[in-house]
Amino acid sequence: MTHATNQGRPTFRFAPSPNGELHIGHALSALTGWHWAQRLGGRFLLRIEDIDVARARDHYIDQIFEDLAWIGLDWETPVRRQSAHFPAYRAQADRLAANGLLYPCFATRKEIAAAIADRANHPTDPDGAPLYPGQHKALSRDDIVARQGDGQPFALRLDMDRALTEALRITGGAPITYCALADDGSPSEVIARPERWGDAVIVRKDVPASYHLAVVTDDADQGISHVTRGRDLEAATDLHRLLQILLDLPAPCYHHHRLLLDDRGAKFAKRDGATSLHTLREQGLSRDAVRAMAGF
Ligand code: GLU
Repeated sequence: MTHATNQGRPTFRFAPSPNGELHIGHALSALTGWHWAQRLGGRFLLRIEDIDVARARDHYIDQIFEDLAWIGLDWETPVRRQSAHFPAYRAQADRLAANGLLYPCFATRKEIAAAIADRANHPTDPDGAPLYPGQHKALSRDDIVARQGDGQPFALRLDMDRALTEALRITGGAPITYCALADDGSPSEVIARPERWGDAVIVRKDVPASYHLAVVTDDADQGISHVTRGRDLEAATDLHRLLQILLDLPAPCYHHHRLLLDDRGAKFAKRDGATSLHTLREQGLSRDAVRAMAGF
């Protein structure tokens, strides 16, 4: 794969998923990336993260363009849509598989839950989901072929132990780290702990990609040098950095910005229609008022 180089210009992106209306938290995220790009004389790209084809809607994409333009942002075109790049994600998954780092998992959610004997004491990933208990990690070749012959759907999971061993071989034993930028732009080196995610799903059952695989592929393909996104995705960066090492992709710097909280102290969510940018605009709020709500 060739990677965009952008002639060394800092390159930022905002990468919304079109499965709901953007809210004030998205405005903060988009404005953060856009302002940093302006300050550094860099590029600002938009990417539509629509691998979840069952939930993505075209009218939300139109709405994203409208909302972002309304809050005063501009971006380069054409806009990348993940759903147009499934072959690229597949090629990356094939590469991991060729190194023996992926294995098929046919287990349903129910079967996974049933395989966890002591739910209360079972370790969870940073998102709070129970770590995969590993029941399909060592299926025999014959079993895999038979299940595939029956048309049983399967995900591809990362064999985390092997992946870590391979990553350490690549780094020459150095720990897996990434460059993190504080609010004032000062860099620091963070030690990543991808093992927290266990045998994460790299290719989903329903679509030939996953958020993690698509995001590292796209960031490399688009030459993203700076990833600005919310702190809710900070832990995922550990897994992203591991994938970048395994796939020989460049390492962007990461800035994880604060999250806006609603009156009850909860993170804004797409289901909170009341705070959607669209609704705020319809209610007659000005662009400046909305920018101020997002802290700009
Ligand atoms: N598509 C993700 C979201 O809307 C953001 C992914 C990212 O910035 O890495 O939450």
